[in-house]
Amino acid sequence: MQIYKTPLREFRFLLEDFLQLNNNKVLTDRSLEIDDLLMILEEASKMCEETLLPLNAIGDNEGCVFEDGKVIAPKGFKEAYKVFSENGWQGIKVKEKYGGQELPYIMNMFLDEMVSSTNMSFGLYPGLTANAIDAIEKSATDELKNLYLPHLTSGKWTGTMNLTEPQCGTDLGLSKTMATPNDDGSYNITGTKIFITCGEHDLSENVVHLVLARTPNAPEGIKGISLFLVPKILPHNDGTLDKKNNVKCGSIEKKMGIKASPTCVMHYEDAKGWLVGDLNKGMKAMFIMMNGARLFVGIQGIGLSETAFQSSLNYAKERVQGKLPESENIADPIIVHPEIRKNLMFMKSMNDGIRGLMIRAGHAFDLIDIDQSKELTESSENLIALLTPILKSFATDKSMEITNQALQIYGGHGYITDHGMEQLVRDARITPIYEGTNGIQALDLIGRKFNIHNGLVINQYLDDINSFLDEHKDNSKIEKFIKLFEPSYNDLKECIDFIKRTEVTNSQEINSHAVDFLNIFALVAVGFTWLEFISICLNKIEDNEDDFYLSKIKLGDFYLTKVIFETRKFKNNIYSSGKLYNEFEDKFFEAGI
Ligand SMILES: Cc1cc2nc3c(=O)[nH]c(=O)nc-3n(C[C@H](O)[C@H](O)[C@H](O)COP(=O)(O)OP(=O)(O)OC[C@H]3O[C@@H](n4cnc5c(N)ncnc54)[C@H](O)[C@@H]3O)c2cc1C
Repeated sequence: MQIYKTPLREFRFLLEDFLQLNNNKVLTDRSLEIDDLLMILEEASKMCEETLLPLNAIGDNEGCVFEDGKVIAPKGFKEAYKVFSENGWQGIKVKEKYGGQELPYIMNMFLDEMVSSTNMSFGLYPGLTANAIDAIEKSATDELKNLYLPHLTSGKWTGTMNLTEPQCGTDLGLSKTMATPNDDGSYNITGTKIFITCGEHDLSENVVHLVLARTPNAPEGIKGISLFLVPKILPHNDGTLDKKNNVKCGSIEKKMGIKASPTCVMHYEDAKGWLVGDLNKGMKAMFIMMNGARLFVGIQGIGLSETAFQSSLNYAKERVQGKLPESENIADPIIVHPEIRKNLMFMKSMNDGIRGLMIRAGHAFDLIDIDQSKELTESSENLIALLTPILKSFATDKSMEITNQALQIYGGHGYITDHGMEQLVRDARITPIYEGTNGIQALDLIGRKFNIHNGLVINQYLDDINSFLDEHKDNSKIEKFIKLFEPSYNDLKECIDFIKRTEVTNSQEINSHAVDFLNIFALVAVGFTWLEFISICLNKIEDNEDDFYLSKIKLGDFYLTKVIFETRKFKNNIYSSGKLYNEFEDKFFEAGI
């Protein structure tokens, strides 16, 4: 059985000490206080712990059933979804005018984390809906917004994202789905989409698909793609349901994990749809959904890692095997053993640091929303642009490592279904794949993000680090931690210069460095988050030797001593170039020798 208690103390630390929200317009503009936010999170935590967690193993065991074009979710999911939607969680950050609660973005992040910790499969139904709401709100006509957003916000209808086709995965320019215009301004959509999460199910009365398709005579490739809203059931203008649209679920996939979330093949045969955003600018509109979804997937990684940590910590305290040399017990709990302690501290220090970075990105959305100044909006947008590929990749890569470490701590019992660790490992495995594989995120960082505004996005982040280091250069308490951080920070700066010196025409060589560069950046960004945490906690313990802050300092010390220096390995990979594999003769690959 998986063990999970919502880390509310951790959430309070991030809201109160890290973001210092009490002094921040994000809350004052909404007449909210941190205690209000924590009360709301506590309510959500009850739902997650009491309703979603017990369904996690049931969902994994039963999976979804496909029958006559319909998908039936596992036992209890429909009822849980009713609780979720009736309590307004779907609309936590949606504007009040569409029926939402209009709470800060970071509240949605905490909610997504709790849901992912307790039932990742369940979280995919409302999770993609939230991103569909964003895309519709930012790109659709008022008519579409007024008709669809209230029902998506209430959870009566759910949303999906339809990009992938059999011949078109990463390379969306290969999309073949067609959209033919009708005289009334609508389009007829025809084509097949595969791997569509929650494309069909019985939790909501309607499903609203956001579908990429091309119109006749549209330019080739990605420049000819548009986005369309295609409902499963066509609504009347007042939102009541009319007749079924020509959308069919052909089958659902048998797969490794997230078994309670249906992965659907969707057939569109002259299905009625409406354009969202401008013609041939579908990727721009879809990117709103995809970027939100990328951070959401990163949060899934954090959520799974949290449950993995808590469960294996609990097990390590209870499981008795071997003993300390000086112990008088027949055997001690395995938590006394160095390797177990090291793994637990790795899990916690990594996940706390990544969560802090994630919340920093979430806060940037809230700052944009408050729109204090053009400058602040631009710097917030730059931060989000930089951190999105880093967080999506790093949080999910680490979730695979951390869930595996948790399984290892359980020994053979981890391999057995009952404890739920093997489910966490299987569920985590999709996160580096969907929403743009992690390899593609790395290419986004080293390609697009590296070059936006001549490197401004990266330089702005380095400026933040430099300001911190400058501000603390005479602070003897934090000196030791800064010394631990600096060599890896230098690795990052040196690699940035090294990549800048690489001929831009040599894209094969630049792309060879993508994953290593992302890892260096992520290790340093999480390290910087730890420096910020440590600085806060050192101040806090001056007034009060609270164990929470003392533990944070030790965890930060662990990260900066034992983890961050991995940048060296990635730097060596970059410096030794990609020639060894790029110039490996094709004849050897052909022969498989
Ligand atoms: C459970 C599940 C749920 C999903 N949900 C959805 C959904 O809701 N909606 C949706 O539209 N899709 C969904 N997908 C699809 C998912 O987003 C794709 O599987 C993913 O984007 C990768 O595409 P692909 O599988 O075709 O792999 P490919 O594109 O064929 O890639 C194969 C490998 O090649 C690498 N690669 C590809 N191109 C390059 C390149 N240019 N440079 C370097 N490496 C490259 C990739 O990183 C990958 O490792 C889902 C998939 C699964 C399994």
